[in-house]
Amino acid sequence: MPEIDLKCACGTVKGKATAESAKMGTRITCCCDDCQAFAQFLGQEDSVLDQYGGTDIFQIPVSYLTISEGKSEIACIKLSSKGMYRWYAKCCNTPIGNTFGVGGPFIGVIHSFMDNTQTRDADLGKSRGYVLTKYAKTPVPENLKASSLSINFRMVTKILSWKLKGLNKPSELFNNDGQPICEPHILDKKVQGS
Ligand SMILES: [Zn+2]
Ligand SMILES: [Zn+2]
Repeated sequence: MPEIDLKCACGTVKGKATAESAKMGTRITCCCDDCQAFAQFLGQEDSVLDQYGGTDIFQIPVSYLTISEGKSEIACIKLSSKGMYRWYAKCCNTPIGNTFGVGGPFIGVIHSFMDNTQTRDADLGKSRGYVLTKYAKTPVPENLKASSLSINFRMVTKILSWKLKGLNKPSELFNNDGQPICEPHILDKKVQGS
């Protein structure tokens, strides 16, 4: 059973992602403006975003992620009241990952929180490609783009099956009563004049 060590940049928050096989997750590179805004909010664009403005993300069931140290340093923002929960380590502004609310069965773990820079391709398989490339900072070459039909089909079927299997629980990020472990700070990125 492969295990991926998780660690924020300063080492305060640590954990593991455990799965039956790396193939069970979905690795993509997301170019959407919200992922870019999250990196900007954390002041981590240089370390999180690649040359196209993409974020390397590995989607796994929430219950496959465990936090062993530094849980009190975990903080959360939402870019709008209906947006995703975007989790990070406030000790050093390392992004952790993105989830929906309590019933959401997956977390998109952001590469910055994975302590496997050298072995990431072997651990996770290569990225299935860039998605939401219309938001990219510079044009993404066609051969690097994910086929939106097949990637969407894969993500939706995975997420549905994880949901059916109840893999949204146990969760490190939501309590049993459905409340997030910390109150998300809601940013309104569409503030006038900015
Ligand atoms: Zn840290
Ligand atoms: Zn995104």
